[in-house]
Amino acid sequence: MQIEHPYTGDGRWLRGNLHTHTTETDGADTVEEVLDAYESIGHDFLAISDHDLLVDPDRYRADTSLTLLPAVEVTANGTHVVHVGATAVVEPRADRQAVVDDIREQGAMAIPAHPNWEADFDHWPQRRLSELTGYHGIEIYNGNIERCPGTPLATDRWDQLLSAGRRVWGFGTDDTHDAVDIGNAWTVVQVAERTPAAVLEALTAGQTYVSTGVDIERIAVEDGSIELDASERVTARLVSDWGRVQRTRAGETVRFHLPDDLVYGREHSYVRVECRGRGDDAAWTQPFYLA
Ligand SMILES: [Zn+2]
Ligand SMILES: [Zn+2]
Repeated sequence: MQIEHPYTGDGRWLRGNLHTHTTETDGADTVEEVLDAYESIGHDFLAISDHDLLVDPDRYRADTSLTLLPAVEVTANGTHVVHVGATAVVEPRADRQAVVDDIREQGAMAIPAHPNWEADFDHWPQRRLSELTGYHGIEIYNGNIERCPGTPLATDRWDQLLSAGRRVWGFGTDDTHDAVDIGNAWTVVQVAERTPAAVLEALTAGQTYVSTGVDIERIAVEDGSIELDASERVTARLVSDWGRVQRTRAGETVRFHLPDDLVYGREHSYVRVECRGRGDDAAWTQPFYLA
């Protein structure tokens, strides 16, 4: 069984938030206050992504130890798309395919935001996520939706896309509007050097996992097994197509053997691993594609 996966590099794991608002649009805190808050909780990188507004990170680099990525949340006229690595604001056209195409033209990343937001839990109807092409991934955990209508977790959407053969990464963000949003969910990226370009490249390549509290120290594939070292005892679930849980194992190190651990169903195009730690703490790996 061939296992194709993004965890091929080495380097340090850096933690960051890709979706942040400030008083430049509808956030409660200034850019300076937000930078201080993320620095104080030990984040390594941050993207300020105000609504249809690009806050130039170059104005703030001298004042923070955070690696700053330029970003925008495309908001007006439709469903929201986080634009990371922005060189300019794209016109928020109602045609979101045109928006994603414009983002890609900049060499930047497009991430449809909070799919399960709003009273109908359906900010991004699944059909529209399926039709839309060219985006890099979706928010599988948007912490702001913990206190808004809907549900922060959107692995249900992700499994549907992955099962249909789409190759999209999962991202975790705070969608920070207020201090209570800071540090609820993040994306951890493995990079050799701590520069905006290196972080963006690794994010694009999916050398990442998503966390709400569980730290993963190593993700590797060896001799047909997916191996994972966490910094605490976790309960890990091997999830495959259409969200089916194939196996559950517990420990600080967990190992899933393929194809032996695929016990339900016949066709498997991917697996991914979810880890639960203490309380609500969790982590989600990117998919491992099977052939
Ligand atoms: Zn939004
Ligand atoms: Zn937002």
